[in-house]
Amino acid sequence: MTPAVGSLPLWWDDPTAPLGPSPTTSRYAVGQQGFSLTTAALPTSDVPARADVCIVGAGYTGLWTAYYLLRADPSLSVVVLEAAHVGFGASGRNGGWVSALYPVGPEAIASSHGESGARSMVAALQETVRELGSVCADERIDCGFAQGGTVVAARSAAQAVRARAAAQHGEYWGDGTVWLDADAAHERVAMTRLHGATFNPHCARVHPKRLVDGLAAAVRRLGGVIVEGAPVEVAFAGQVRLASGQVVRARHAVRATEAWTARFPGLRRAIAPVYSLMVATEPLPASVWDEIGLARRETFADHRHVVIYGQRTVDDRIAFGGRGAPYHFGSRIRPEFDCEPEVFGDIIETLHELFPTLREYAVTHRWGGPLGIARDWHPRVTYHADSGLGTAGGYVGDGVATTNLAGRTLADLIRGVPSPLTRLPWVGHRSPSWEPEPLRWLGVNAGLRVAEWADVEEQMTGRPAVLGRALSALTAH
Ligand SMILES: Cc1cc2nc3c(=O)[nH]c(=O)nc-3n(C[C@H](O)[C@H](O)[C@H](O)COP(=O)(O)OP(=O)(O)OC[C@H]3O[C@@H](n4cnc5c(N)ncnc54)[C@H](O)[C@@H]3O)c2cc1C
Repeated sequence: MTPAVGSLPLWWDDPTAPLGPSPTTSRYAVGQQGFSLTTAALPTSDVPARADVCIVGAGYTGLWTAYYLLRADPSLSVVVLEAAHVGFGASGRNGGWVSALYPVGPEAIASSHGESGARSMVAALQETVRELGSVCADERIDCGFAQGGTVVAARSAAQAVRARAAAQHGEYWGDGTVWLDADAAHERVAMTRLHGATFNPHCARVHPKRLVDGLAAAVRRLGGVIVEGAPVEVAFAGQVRLASGQVVRARHAVRATEAWTARFPGLRRAIAPVYSLMVATEPLPASVWDEIGLARRETFADHRHVVIYGQRTVDDRIAFGGRGAPYHFGSRIRPEFDCEPEVFGDIIETLHELFPTLREYAVTHRWGGPLGIARDWHPRVTYHADSGLGTAGGYVGDGVATTNLAGRTLADLIRGVPSPLTRLPWVGHRSPSWEPEPLRWLGVNAGLRVAEWADVEEQMTGRPAVLGRALSALTAH
C-alpha cells in the first residue's frame, strides 16, 4: 500500500547524499505533509557583519551567482543567507529537466528586441545546458547529468498538429526541435497511443538536490559563506536585515527568492507562486525499461495543454510531475499546499495512462513546491548599478538551466563587466504587476482550468482545442 499523503521529496530521501545539514535534523519544521520556514529566526554567529555581496536564497539562482562571482574574482567576500536549508525551494524539489526551454516564445522576444535578440536568447539557453554539464564535470558534482534530449509525444491527432507546428517553428528559430514519426518516437519511449513526437537534443536529466548540494559545496570551496536558517526580512543594497535583527552591510545585494519574493514589502504583486506537484515510483526492474525505453535517459512529456514532465532517475525510478494544483488566494505559500491528494491522484492516473505497465509498481513518493510566475510570464535578470541591488527569477517551470544563465549574467553585472550576457533581452526586463486580489486568484485559477478543459475538448472532438487560443491569451505566450 502507498501512503495517501505527501512525503519528503524523493530527492531529499537519498542515502548517498554527502554529509551536510539534513532537512530532518536541522532547524526547520519538517512535517509529514510538508516543510515550513521557522519564524523563530534565532541570531546565528556565522552571519558576517559585512560582505561585498550578500545573496538572499540558496537555490540555484543564489548559488550560481555566488559561484560565478567567486570564480571570476576570488578576492570578493560573498555570503548567501537562506531561510531554511540549501535547496529548500524549487531547486531541491523539481523535475530535473536541464533544458533550453523558456516560457516566452522567440516571436514575443523579437517584437521588443528584434529577431537577432530572440536568436541570441535561443543560443544562450542552448549553450547554458552545455555549461551546466561542464561545471558538473569540473566540480565533480555527481548529479547524474545525462544529456539524452527530450521527447514530447503526440498522443492524439490534435496533439500531432501542434507537435508538427512546434517542429516547423523550431526549424525557423534553430531551437533544435524535430518531428519523429510514430516508429522513431516509439524507439525512444514506448508510450500508449503514439502518433509521433517532437525531439529536442538540448535537455539533460539531473538529480536536482544533488545538483544544488554539489553547487553549494563548490561555493564553499571557493570561499563563499552560506548561512542556513537565516530568514531575511528586508533586502536592500547597502543593508540586508535578517528576521533575527542581525544586519549584513554589503555593497551589492541579490534577491534570489523566486516564489517567496511576494512576501517582501512592496513585492506582493511581482510574482505569483504557482504549485507544481510530483510523484515517484519505486525502482523499476530491467524488464520494465526494456518495455518503456528511455535508454538514453531522455526526459519526456506529451503535447497536452496541462504541463506534465517525467524523467528516468539515477536509481531507475520514474519521477513524474504536473501542474494543475490551485493557486492560493493572496499568493500564500504554506507547507500543506505541497500536498494535494486529488492532484496526486490525477498525476498517477496520467502516468499509468502513458505506461500501463507501471500499475504493477508502487508510487513511493509524493511532493510539491511553488515556482514563480510574472504577470507576462517573462523571466528577468535585473541589476541597478546605483543601488547595487540585483534580482533574477520568474522562470515559471524552466528554471533549472536558466538559473545558471542568470547567475553568470548577475556576476558580470555586479562586477561591472559588459558582456554578451549582459546584453541579452531578459536583462532589465520589467513585467507588469499582477492584478490585486480577488482578480489575481480568479485569473490564475481560470488559466489552470482552461488548460484542463482544452485537453478534454481535444479528447472529445479530436481536433486542436479552440480553448487553446484562450489559454495563450491568458498566459500571454
Ligand atoms: C515541482 C517542481 C518541478 C519543477 N521542474 C522543473 C524542471 O524539471 N525543469 C526546470 O527547468 N524547472 C523546473 N522547475 C522550476 C525550477 O525548479 C525553478 O525555476 C528553480 O529551481 C528556481 O530556482 P531559484 O533559486 O530561483 O528559487 P528557489 O529554488 O525556489 O530558491 C529560493 C530560496 O530562497 C529562500 N528564501 C525565500 N525567502 C527567503 C527569505 N526571506 N530569506 C532567506 N531565504 C529565503 C527559499 O527558502 C529558497 O531556498 C520546477 C519547479 C517545481 C516546484
